[in-house]
Amino acid sequence: MAEISVSEIMKSLKEYTKEEINNLEAFKSEIEKVPKTFCLIKLSDYEYGLSSNGKTDHRIIVKEERDKSKVREYSKNGKNYWYCSKCKSSAFLKFKYGILFAAIQHGNCCETKEYSFAKKIQSLLKQGKFNEVHGLTVNSTKGLKRHFFQFRAKEEKIKVKF
Ligand SMILES: [Zn+2]
Repeated sequence: MAEISVSEIMKSLKEYTKEEINNLEAFKSEIEKVPKTFCLIKLSDYEYGLSSNGKTDHRIIVKEERDKSKVREYSKNGKNYWYCSKCKSSAFLKFKYGILFAAIQHGNCCETKEYSFAKKIQSLLKQGKFNEVHGLTVNSTKGLKRHFFQFRAKEEKIKVKF
C-alpha cells in the first residue's frame, strides 16, 4: 500500500468501510495486494449516483483529495467493473472489504468536474430529465467544436483572398 499502512486503516476502519472485518489476517493480505497505483477513499469522500440513463448505483462520484469541490465520476460497466467517465478505460475503481480504492493516474485528457455540477446532473437524473442532462453534458463540447470550425473557416477565407 502506498501512503497508508494496513494498521492505520485498522485504526480508523469505520471511516473506510461499513463491513465488519472478522478475519484480520486475510484482510491484511488482501489490502496489501492492492497496487501502489491506487489510493484509499474515505466513505465521506464518495457517493453513489445514477448513470446517464438513470440506473441506480451505476455511478460513483469521488471527491478529489486536495480539493473537495472537485470530483471525478466513474461509471459501472458489467458486474463490478468501474471506469472513469471522462478518460474511459485508463482508470478505474476497486472494492475490497467494502473499501474503495481509486486509481491515482488518469488519462491525459482527463479532468475533474465541479462537485456542484455533478450534483446538479444527479438531481436532474432523479427527476427523469434525461434530455436536459444530455444538453448540459454534450453542449459544452459541441460549443467548443463549433467555435473551432468557425475559426478554421475564417482562416481559410483569408488564405483564399491573398
Ligand atoms: Zn479519468
